[in-house]
Parts: sequence; C-alpha cells; structure tokens
Amino acid sequence: MKRLANFINGEYFEPASGQYLPIYDPARGQAYAEAPDSDDADVSKAYEAASAAFPAWSATTVDERFRILNRIADLITERLEDLAAAESMDNGKPLWLARQVDIPRAATNFRFFAQAITQFSSATHDMGASGFNYTLRQPLGVVACISPWNLPLYLFTWKIAPALAAGNTVVAKPSEVTPMTAYLLGEICQEAGLPAGVLNILHGYGHRLGAALTGHDGIKAISFTGSTRTGAIIAKKAAPKFKKLSLEMGGKNPNIIFADCDYDKALTTSVRSSFANQGQICLCGSRIFVERPLYDQFKTDFVERAKTLKVGPPDAEDTKVGAVVSKPHFEKIMSYIQLAQEEGGTVLCGGNAVQLEGEYSEGWYVAPTIIEGLAHDCRTNQEEIFGPVVTIMPFDDEAEVLGYANSTEYGLSATIWTQQLDRAHRLARNLQAGIVWINTWLRRDLRTPFGGVKNSGVGREGGWEALRFFTEPKNICVEL
Ligand code: NAD
Repeated sequence: MKRLANFINGEYFEPASGQYLPIYDPARGQAYAEAPDSDDADVSKAYEAASAAFPAWSATTVDERFRILNRIADLITERLEDLAAAESMDNGKPLWLARQVDIPRAATNFRFFAQAITQFSSATHDMGASGFNYTLRQPLGVVACISPWNLPLYLFTWKIAPALAAGNTVVAKPSEVTPMTAYLLGEICQEAGLPAGVLNILHGYGHRLGAALTGHDGIKAISFTGSTRTGAIIAKKAAPKFKKLSLEMGGKNPNIIFADCDYDKALTTSVRSSFANQGQICLCGSRIFVERPLYDQFKTDFVERAKTLKVGPPDAEDTKVGAVVSKPHFEKIMSYIQLAQEEGGTVLCGGNAVQLEGEYSEGWYVAPTIIEGLAHDCRTNQEEIFGPVVTIMPFDDEAEVLGYANSTEYGLSATIWTQQLDRAHRLARNLQAGIVWINTWLRRDLRTPFGGVKNSGVGREGGWEALRFFTEPKNICVEL
C-alpha cells in the first residue's frame, strides 16, 4: 500500500506522530494508500521552513517567479496521464474528466498567475504640486491554503499559484479524502526548481492538522475552500488573530429556465450542470426552476436524458457518472434522497445506489436522481446535498422565481436561460449570487472575480482579486 509523506522544505518527511490515515479508492470502496495524520508538530516544522524561505522568495523578480511557476505548469502538463489517473482513483471521478478538466486546469492556474504577476501594478494618487502617494502591494508572509476533495488539484493550485506569484510562502493542506495529486505536486515543484520551503504540503485531518494550521500565530492569511460549516470554524478561530480570510464555501444554486430559452442548449447544459462530477461541483445547479408552459416537456426530456447517463467505473470511456467520493458522503446523499421522499417529493428517476460488478461491486455509486413535487423552502431545497441529486419545480413569473432562487442561506452561483435580454439582466442584478451565468454554465474566465455571497463566501478569488488578497497595500505619502 502506497504511503504518502509531507513535503516540507523541499523534501518528503514522515509525520512527527508516525501516524497515518487511510485513503480510499471510491470506485472499489477499498483503502489503497495512506497519508500522514499530521498535527501541530508538522505545522511548526513547515512554518519554520516557509518563514525561512520568505525573505529570498519575496525578493525574487517577477520574471523569476514567472519562470518557475510556468515551469510547474509545463511539468503538470507533461505528467497529465499520471496525474489524471491519480485524481480519478482518489476521487472516483471519470478518468476522461480528470484528463480533460482537472489536470489541464491545474496547469492553467499556474500559467495564469505566472503571467498575471508580470502585469500586476499598484496605484498612484497625485496631490498636484504639493505631493503624491504611491501604494506598494507587498506579500503577506507565510499563508495557509486549505482545499476540499471535489476538484482536488484544480482547487489546491487555484490558491497556491496566486499566493506564490505574489511572493508569499505557503503551507498548504489538501483534503484528507483526496491527497494524492497534492502529494505528487511536491515532486513537480522539486523538478521545477521551486526553492526549498516556498511551498510546503501537509496531509491530515481537518480537525487536527487544519485546526493547528489555522490557529498558528505566524500564518498571516488563510485561503479556504470547503463547507460553510468548516468556514465558520475557521473564521471564529482566525478573527481574534486578525488573519486575512478568503472563504469559498457551499452552494445551493438555482438553474432558472424560461419558456423562451434556447431549448436544446438549456436541456443539454442542465444535464451537465446537474450531474457533472457526480454533482459534486460547488457550482452545480441543484434546484431547477422551469417556467410552467415548458415544465412538462422539459421534465420529460430531462428525465429521459438523465436515464441514459451511464453510471460506471471511472476508467471506462463511456462512464458519465463515476463513484461519489467516500462512504460517509454516499450515506449523506442517500439520506437526502430519503428525506426528499419524506418531505413529499416524487423521485422521477434514480433515487437508488448502483451496484456495479466484479472489482467495483463495493464502490459508492448513486444513480442520477431527479425529484419533483417539493416546496422551495423544504430542507431538501435549502440544504446542500453535493451529489447527483436535483429537484425540479415549476414557476409562473419572474418575481416568484426570484424569491425562490434567493430563499436559501447560500449565494454562490445562478444560471438563467432566456432569450429576453432585459429580463436576463434584471434577474442577474437581483439574484443573490457571486456568479451569474446567462445562457451558459461553468464558462470560466480566470480574470473574473470568483466567490459567493451570504453563507457561500467571504472574499473573491481569480485575477487581480486573488493577487490583492495575497498582498498588503501600503500607502506612501510624499510631500514636495
Ligand atoms: P470540508 O469543509 O469538510 O473540508 C475542506 C477542507 O477543510 C479540508 O481540507 C478539510 O480537512 C479542512 N478542514 C476541516 N475541518 C477543519 C478545521 N476545523 N480547520 C481547518 N481546516 C479544516 O469540505 P469538503 O467536504 O472537503 O468539501 C465540500 C464542500 O466544499 C462543499 O460544501 C462545497 O460546496 C464546497 N466547495 C466550495 C467551493 C467554492 O468555490 N465555493 C468549491 C468547491 C467546494
């Protein structure tokens, strides 16, 4: 069984405790590796390395940072097949998806911020003949990056790349559920010539390692992506220490379909926005609202399409829905399907676990599930399920659907399907969400601000927002 190690000061180390935790292959429902069960001793060691590396790294030219981060991107691309196989094995997602989306995007994250830092500038405020101000944007020091299991390397690098580009040194923690590609990233950093200590990668549980990391006095900022529950714990801990916080958390996103939409596009995209990555994308549209004149037709076609999605082993080319990430998560999803029925919902398709054959018979698979007949304010429609489960509901007018859409504690993203420009823009302004897609879904431009409102997030990632987060502005006033 493969044993992972912490990456500290450019080398791999066992955890101080000597303890390990199991890593599961969700497609087979079996442990296949183990990762360090790290604690505060490992955090101290990683922090010391990061702190020692900071003066030199923060003083490197942007050209040098560009060169090294770009090299990391190249090496990720060279190791695409390896990394995609590791990601799929660790997470249960289809191999083709890891190959087409997760790993290329991880490389793009490094390439994007390598370039962005060469263009990052700060302001001057002129006071005329009497003087002027200029603002420096300086790196913060040692920062923490904590990421979830749904898009493991993709989201891990989305934080690390801007932190490093801005001149910080990093102690990073991937999810203990999917640590494999983060572990491999250490090898890539060695090969790319990233100086020792600039990036340190620790493995372990959230309640032990994550808590030690976020509580460490030397950590200047925490960039976190994960559940709203964990975000609240981190915020509580970080606030009295005045750490900078970026929190990207849960969602319960509305997918609003008007009768005048481009029907085929709305239908095809809604299948993807419901079930891609087993519905385990924070941006998935898990509440589908369809204008009443279109409701029956859309429902019929949508159910028919969902039934054709093949639930299968992640490495089969024709698998559309792989395994969900873990046994506890599988149980959580199944419990919500049960709850939906108790709340009066009707399961139109799916609703069941899927048992595959042979070596996959113990894996955790859930059939794409569509539920109708639920009120917008029931628990099924208010709480994040984060699996291949969506609800579908009719609506009669714009004001009504806006009320439904905004009724949850979350506000991450929303999708609108309509050909009426004024309606689309009016709704987009009024939806409580950090990201609104009109006639598309998951179209990403990395320069744009990314994040949520309400209990979905604090702060924004992406483009300048990320570089601003990972730097401190200092104004310098000069009198002439
Ligand atoms: P999680 O909150 O359980 O864990 C996320 C990370 O936080 C993990 O690395 C975990 O070990 C760590 N952690 C847990 N407890 C901690 C603590 N007390 N202190 C510090 N760190 C701690 O989330 P998850 O189950 O891994 O991921 C799923 C969630 O992530 C969903 O809610 C999903 O919506 C959300 N998510 C949000 C976005 C976004 O961009 N808004 C993107 C992806 C996923």
